[in-house]
This record gives sequence, C-alpha cells and structure tokens, in this order.
Amino acid sequence: MTAEIISVGSELLTGTVVNTNAAFLAEQCVTSGFDCFYQTVVGDDKKRLEETVKTAEKRSDIIFVSGGLGQAEDDITMQTIKDMYPDASVVELENHNGSANGCILENQKKTVILLPGSPKELEPMFKEQVSVYLQEKTDMVIRSRTIKICGLDEKTINDSIKDLFDYNENVVLATYAKCGEVHIRVTAKAATEKEALKLTKYVVKELKHRFNQSIYTTHEETSLEQSCVDLLLANDLRISTMESCTGGMLAARLINVPGVSEVFKAGYVTYSNKAKRKVLGVKQSTLKKYSAVSEEVAREMAQGISLLTKADVTVSVTGLAGPDGGTKEKPVGLVYIGCNVKGKTVVEEYHFSGDRTHVREEAVVAALALLRKCVLEYFSEVTFGKKG
Ligand code: ATP
Ligand code: MG
Repeated sequence: MTAEIISVGSELLTGTVVNTNAAFLAEQCVTSGFDCFYQTVVGDDKKRLEETVKTAEKRSDIIFVSGGLGQAEDDITMQTIKDMYPDASVVELENHNGSANGCILENQKKTVILLPGSPKELEPMFKEQVSVYLQEKTDMVIRSRTIKICGLDEKTINDSIKDLFDYNENVVLATYAKCGEVHIRVTAKAATEKEALKLTKYVVKELKHRFNQSIYTTHEETSLEQSCVDLLLANDLRISTMESCTGGMLAARLINVPGVSEVFKAGYVTYSNKAKRKVLGVKQSTLKKYSAVSEEVAREMAQGISLLTKADVTVSVTGLAGPDGGTKEKPVGLVYIGCNVKGKTVVEEYHFSGDRTHVREEAVVAALALLRKCVLEYFSEVTFGKKG
C-alpha cells in the first residue's frame, strides 16, 4: 500500500518553519510498512491544495494532509478536503493537545487523513489514534530493530550496506545520521510475526558482522553514554575526565546516566594553561613547545588525571572550538582526545566542522566513542594475551 504526505502552510514554503511533520510522518510510514513515494508542500490556498490532493489521489492509497485545520482565516484545509469528498465516511480524531480535531475520510478508493499543523498536536494524535487505524488496514506484520553505530561516518556505512538495501523487498533499511553517530533502522514486513522477525534477524546479524565493535547497542532506548557506563560497570572500571574545550559536557553526558556513581570518580575542567599545569601537572615545556591543542598535551592531560584521581580509565579533550583562534597549522575544529586505560594511553586527532556548539558536541561524542574503543581493545588484548 502506498502513502503520500501533503504539508499545508505558506510558512513552510518560505522556509520560516522547518517541515518536521513530513519527516515524522515519513518515518511512521516506514515503520508501519507503507511505501511513501511523494511529499508535497503547498501554501494555504484552496485551489492549489485541491490540485495537490487530486495529483496525490492518482498515485497513492493513503494521503496524509497536515496543517491548516484551525479556525483562523488561512486555515482552509478541512473545508477544502471535505468538499472534495462529500460521500466519504468520517472518523473524528480527537486533539488532546490543542483545539483543532483531525479526521480520517474514507471512500471506496482512498483514505485521506487530516492532521493538525503543530507537531506537538500531530505526533501524539498519530501515535494514539492513527497508528492503530493503520495497523487494522494492513494485514502485514511490521517489526523493526535499530542498530546504533559510533566512530564511523554515514558515507562509509552506506557504502558497506549497499547490497542490503536490495536484499529483500519486504525489508527496508534506513540510516539516520545524528551528531557523531549513525543509526540504522531495519524494518521488515511479513504475513506473520515469525517471518518478520526472521527477516530482521538476518539483516541485524549481517550488520553486526560488518560493523562489529562500532555497534554500541541494538536497543532503541540505549544511548551512547549509557553503553559506555555499562561497559565500565561490566569491567569494574572507574573513570575520570579532563576537559578543556568541551567545558564539562563530557562529564555531564556520563552523569546523565542513572547509576553512574558506581563508575564516575571526577571530572575536571581545566580551561587555562595555568590550570592544566597546576591541576594536572601538564609540563610548561610541553605547552610551550606544542601549544595547548596538541597530541602531547592531550596525552599529558590523560596521564595527569590518571595519577591525580587513580581512575582506571581517563579521557582528556583539548581543542579549538572557534570561531576565533584558528591558524593554518591548527585550524578551528581541531580536537585531540586522549584516553588512558590502566596505563595505556591513546591519543586521536579529529577535525570537526560547524560552529562552536557543533564542534564541542562532536568532540563529546568522539570522546565517548574513543572511550568505548580503548576499553574494548584493552580487554580483547588482555584476553588474547591470556589465551596465547
Ligand atoms: P491551529 O491553528 O489550531 O494550531 P492548524 O492545524 O491550523 O492548527 P497550523 O495553523 O497550520 O495548524 O500550524 C500550527 C503551527 O504548527 C504553526 O506554528 C505552524 O508553523 C506549525 N506547522 C505547521 N505545519 C508544520 C509542519 N509541516 N512542520 C512543522 N511545523 C508545522
Ligand atoms: Mg492554524
């Protein structure tokens, strides 16, 4: 069955408001097992809306229309569409978060689902009322799984799963790039739950094989910081952090995780060179020779905090978040992250783009990814050593 999305609102056409409803509805179509081949944005104009709906009718079974359901002068959607479908049956959709109700109009051929413009109203209405209705319309069972990856970029990931996109017409793979992470959603549809699960299982197994330790979780609810804390807990490790340009954001992300007190020892923010020297014992000569944003300083920071707090694992971050202060050799976005696991220190160099906030956020995600990688490598080496 095919679905199509029409977003109504002149503010969407001018770029004043970002069309998040289309993104939300498209994702819901994927997880509900409907193929969605078209999305259209149209202004608050009766004639153009009619034309858009007529075009959609020719090619799609279900048409979602969002926006313009209210009482304002420019809210013309409800009347326009009701006039187009005078004989359709109507199911009212209650609005628990606003005033304008939605509705489902249905005749022998088509289903048109009218939803309010505000995402805060549309999303709960969809989840509470529309998805149940859609499930009844399809006799297929939909099952999906999410695989979350860190430390690899979206292009690398897409390139290595190209073949899986065509693996089976009843399996849809979608990649979602988040800041420093990529999530792959695998959705399968089949006549029975058993068959749908079998399809997802095969693909998930294949993804695990291909991305191995870069997958930090296969659970929808688990965050990267949660997976790091779980890893530290499982290996009975204590952690301390030492941040310059991220200003405590790394510690804050870790401390977001309930139960972190079992593993988190201390988080320092040493922004000035003096603090780096005084608190951590970073050498004056190292700062002078290599500057604060350097591999050497990141290494001394990770080792310094290890000595200071006696933590098993330490992570240090030093970088240039910008917008000023960049040079040809050390451009804005250059970040060094150090990680020390039981005396073994690794430092990685990163080049992030974007504004100050973005560089800092990317740096935090990279630090969490490096922390995972170093702990996993340390233990695989230990295990391998023992076996050998
Ligand atoms: P009401 O006017 O009663 O709130 P409505 O259905 O008439 O409901 P609109 O007037 O179209 O809704 O939009 C309400 C708010 O939602 C506006 O701020 C609008 O910019 C925003 N909005 C509308 N469509 C979208 C969309 N596709 N994505 C994100 N936001 C949207
Ligand atoms: Mg309105």
